[in-house]
Amino acid sequence: MRTGAPSVPESLLPHYIDGGFRAPVASEWMPVYNPATGEATARVAMDDSRALEDAVAAARRAFPDWAATPIMERARVMFRYRDLLEQAHEELARSVTDEHGKVLDDAYAEVGRGIEVVELAASAPSVMKGEVVANIAHGVDVEMVRVPLGVVAGLTPFNFPAMIPLWMFPIALVAGNTFVLKPSERTPRTALRLAELLTAAGLPPGVLNVVHGGAGTASAILAHPDVRAVSFVGSEPVARHVYETAASRHKRVQALGGAKNFHVVMPDAVLDDAVRGLVSSGYGSAGERCLACSVVLAVGDVADPLVAALQAAGDHLRVGPGTQAGTEMGPLIRREHRDRVIGFIESGEREGASLVRDGRRDRFAGEGFFLGPTLFDHVRADMTIAREEIFGPVLSVIRVPDLGAAVALANTSAFGNTASIYTRSGRAARYFRDHIEAGMVGVNVGVAAPVAIFPFAGWKTSFYGDLHATGTDGYRFYTELRVVTSRWPDDGTAPVP
Ligand code: NAD
Repeated sequence: MRTGAPSVPESLLPHYIDGGFRAPVASEWMPVYNPATGEATARVAMDDSRALEDAVAAARRAFPDWAATPIMERARVMFRYRDLLEQAHEELARSVTDEHGKVLDDAYAEVGRGIEVVELAASAPSVMKGEVVANIAHGVDVEMVRVPLGVVAGLTPFNFPAMIPLWMFPIALVAGNTFVLKPSERTPRTALRLAELLTAAGLPPGVLNVVHGGAGTASAILAHPDVRAVSFVGSEPVARHVYETAASRHKRVQALGGAKNFHVVMPDAVLDDAVRGLVSSGYGSAGERCLACSVVLAVGDVADPLVAALQAAGDHLRVGPGTQAGTEMGPLIRREHRDRVIGFIESGEREGASLVRDGRRDRFAGEGFFLGPTLFDHVRADMTIAREEIFGPVLSVIRVPDLGAAVALANTSAFGNTASIYTRSGRAARYFRDHIEAGMVGVNVGVAAPVAIFPFAGWKTSFYGDLHATGTDGYRFYTELRVVTSRWPDDGTAPVP
């Protein structure tokens, strides 16, 4: 078992089909950028329909043998994969930073979170155990077992090029399915290395395939009769579309959508800790996280000192290339996305919010897609910046009189991914926990991302489906239940005492 040097070729990014790289053939291409320099580093195929057909066919061919492979052996592949990922941890983190822009520490943590899912997959023999009731009637036993679905597909977003694919395929594969992954066309490279390492860990050819493309390739996956289930993570309108389309074609689907996350700061909060949490949540990864804080609900007289401390923290935040030591925030993913975030800042000014810190004024060397941390105060709940997902380094402070008003306001959001409270009061924390309409709740925590043994549990329009990603939900999503009722009547052929 060797990690080997990364062999993902440069320039025209290949697919990964049937256990090896495959040259792309397409009429439409998209440049892949290093967001810190603004340079195009590769091109990705957007419409290689032949490759998709071949990937699904390879996954279909590989399914019977893989599903029949004893689960202990499938789990051992995951044990070996975990070791290879650990050996390649730094290299994978650099790959994430190069294509996404987030700082190396964040990228390293992202890969670590992905490895946790592989550890969950390695425990599959325990989690996949069925249930039996012996002698439910005279001579009758009932057993319930989990069986894989067949070929399943994953469509992933740009913002976690390693972790989000790893939310999906390790659990799907260890449960006995085969997989076709279509990574984001904006961060397509890291997934190839993840697939290559899994082959090195002993995964048979065709069990995991990676096909590049955009919306057209995703639509072809949703239409494909051989794809039994679809896992999607991305923006809300696309999540809803994927959910409706896949369900109408009788596919199982889980679609994790966008977010607008509210953090409540109580007057009794430890201010320094709250500011640290808000800054790492709101500005970390340039605000391009589905768990990023976007709106700060400042309760009572905490507002003035909180806004002053957030402004100072923004002034001191080290923004620059993610590979540079000590950097705390990197660039946005694309120039167009930065323009979109700037559009939100303009709307905040137009609608009457007070711009306390203007990230547009910060100057950066080179052509990277940088934008400084931005802070609004006196935001109203009806403003665009308080309602829509910005996905950039913009924090909006809304001043509220008490905890009840804070929770009521947060609950008007269409989204329900995460919410946090900063307080020293157990009563306030418990009230918040019990009344906030969000699936992942933080108490004095900036990014309340569940570890892999729990589900990634977004609510409302942040999630379409029934079974979430990871945790036991992940196993349930990727398996069908089979209930077998057996009767062995005494026909006299095999006498027993
Ligand atoms: P996106 O919706 O643009 O793209 C996600 C995936 O969908 C990509 O693979 C893309 O190629 C594909 N796609 C695009 N248009 C499509 C269409 N019409 N039909 C089918 N597939 C299509 O999302 P993004 O910009 O890459 O990622 C950022 C978004 O993802 C944010 O909204 C963020 O909140 C969300 N996100 C959510 C979670 C979560 O757990 N809820 C996690 C990470 C990111």
